[in-house]
Amino acid sequence: MISAVQRSLDSIREKVVCGERLSSKESESLWDDSVDLHELGELANLVRERKNGDAGYYNINTHLNPTNVCVYRCSFCAFRADLRDDRGYWMTDEQILQRGQEAVDAGSTEMHIVGGLHHQKKYDAYLNIIQILHETYPSLHLKAWTPVEINWFCHLTKRSIKDILSEMKSAGLGSLPGGGAEIFHPEVRSKICEHKADTKEWFEIHRIAHSLGLRSNATMLYGSLENAYHRTDHLIRLRDLQDETGGFQTFIPLAFHPDNTRLSHIPKPSAAMSLRTMAISRLVLDNFDHMKAYWIMLGLGTAQTALAYGADDIDGTVRHELIYHDAGAETPEILTVDKIKNLIREAGREPIERDTLYRRVDRNGHLWESGEAIVTA
Ligand code: SF4
Repeated sequence: MISAVQRSLDSIREKVVCGERLSSKESESLWDDSVDLHELGELANLVRERKNGDAGYYNINTHLNPTNVCVYRCSFCAFRADLRDDRGYWMTDEQILQRGQEAVDAGSTEMHIVGGLHHQKKYDAYLNIIQILHETYPSLHLKAWTPVEINWFCHLTKRSIKDILSEMKSAGLGSLPGGGAEIFHPEVRSKICEHKADTKEWFEIHRIAHSLGLRSNATMLYGSLENAYHRTDHLIRLRDLQDETGGFQTFIPLAFHPDNTRLSHIPKPSAAMSLRTMAISRLVLDNFDHMKAYWIMLGLGTAQTALAYGADDIDGTVRHELIYHDAGAETPEILTVDKIKNLIREAGREPIERDTLYRRVDRNGHLWESGEAIVTA
């Protein structure tokens, strides 16, 4: 006899094959353990190959966390420090420019900039980071500030989101990263990060960024206090905004790392959970072009496997990652380009270097014949 779960999966399969959208109820049903993970992966792979063929995207990037001092105390965060904590730091202009030089010397096309909300630093100090980096290294795409930071800048200055984003854009901001999303549903958000930018504010900042021509990414922190209902709600909210603006580029599911956090009693999500999350995200977010398997959090093996479970991007070489290593990530802090390419090839995909906006990067002076935009690095 065919079970209800199998019947529902059969009808979901038909919809996916026909390119039809999954309902919220159907999406939630996919989190049930009785839904075969490999079947899910097969379906997600169908969508992944339809959208991106065999491409396995990566970029050459560098991280910059200007400060770890933070006024907030999110329960999942191992990175933050108190104002008078010995671990607390604020990077000087000289250190920031040195990082920029290191990025350019390593061939980075992108600098990913996020950090804490320092009790004593004014908005101008954050604006200055974008200004000096952009003036000195104009070729670096600055992907900076989550809505949590933008919201903090609005609070500090009493200015509007549009004003702050416009000024940052004029100073050299290239796009917004996807962080600060965590879990949108208030039942969870109120427990893991109750004080920082709320769900409404997170969406409003992305909406305004998109209207100003700034692309952005989106994330979901899974494996802490949420359940299938909350994860589904999170994905559907993102899908709705993407329908409205089309400004998101990629979705990045982020696995919770418990070490040194106030949720250290919760085990970190298994590889199977990570693959299930990637596959379901690919199936639900039918209007997102890209899914990223962030190897820093997933581990190299799971990230590689995720390339067959919906992901088409493995993130970058990443130098100077601090946030997830403070929370116990055991991955290296940097991968060489050869290592990344090998990981992608071993997974049966074609490694393609991209810039932040998913334009192919050409390092040999050859033009791509596909007619896509070209960046010569
Ligand atoms: S997650 Fe961000 S906002 Fe929350 S405590 Fe950590 S650094 Fe601060």
